[in-house]
Amino acid sequence: MNQALVTITTVRELRQAVKQARQAGKTIAFVPTMGALHEGHASLIRRAVSPHAYIVVSIFVNPTQFRPSEDFNRYPRTLEHDLQLCQQSGAHLIFAPTVEEMYGTHSFAAGEKASSSFVEVPGISDVLEGRSRPGHFRGVATVVAKLFHQVQPDVAYFGQKDAQQLAVIRRMVADLHIPVEIVACPTLREDDGLAMSSRNRYLSPEQRTQCTVIYHALSEARERVQEGERDAHFLEVLMKGMLQDTPGCEPDYAVIVDPETFVPKEKINGPALALIAARFGTTRLIDNLLLTGPLTA
Ligand code: AMP
Repeated sequence: MNQALVTITTVRELRQAVKQARQAGKTIAFVPTMGALHEGHASLIRRAVSPHAYIVVSIFVNPTQFRPSEDFNRYPRTLEHDLQLCQQSGAHLIFAPTVEEMYGTHSFAAGEKASSSFVEVPGISDVLEGRSRPGHFRGVATVVAKLFHQVQPDVAYFGQKDAQQLAVIRRMVADLHIPVEIVACPTLREDDGLAMSSRNRYLSPEQRTQCTVIYHALSEARERVQEGERDAHFLEVLMKGMLQDTPGCEPDYAVIVDPETFVPKEKINGPALALIAARFGTTRLIDNLLLTGPLTA
């Protein structure tokens, strides 16, 4: 059943609402997002639903995780639609702060430093997405740490779709002893396998067809592993070849790593995660698939 949904923009109101929910005996469940919500986000909110949970969804396009050349300004903002989806999915509170509320009142543009304190998770932040998007995970870790301090959730839900982000956050939470349980949720896909993403709306009809190669390449690697292939390099070459053979696709990386450490695998001799990033025109898409174990995402 849908309940009244409250939208607030300040940390002060947020703290009050969370305090009241705790006093009413609720646990605090948290789903951080950048808005432009789709069924993937809704699945995280639905996963959080329980009779005891007070579900907070944040909607904040975080400038510090975008580089100046990236799509911060044109990132889709669809607040009315987002509120409806949150309401239908069972959220109780939307926290939609301004950039000034989050980072202070300095003049601010993507990539500039507004606050002077940042959280860095070196190592896992420096490869793949971190290498292609320098500073990205510093922005992500910082905003998620701030949100965790603001919301003080008992449990927070993240999508496996952003597998490296999830690994960075798990590391940060462990290293800084942040008292929150992190729950990973499977990737929701369109019928043709494309991982749902707020950025899919940028794709032209032609690109929308071309980009299904990402899921096909990941699935091909998984099938080969199930048939007994163990050579990670062979599988990487196979995936890259499929991407390169697709018109309109500019591959960034197609790799196989350990799902926890993100260290590259040579042999598939335990848990292995295949990850792809590729550009279609100006739109950069990422996806990943576990090559071993049951298909959950
Ligand atoms: P974003 O708004 O893109 O920052 O994503 C907010 C949260 O939703 C992150 O934890 C994402 O991993 C998760 N998410 C994004 N796309 C999907 C998807 N297709 N399936 C499941 N979770 C997703």
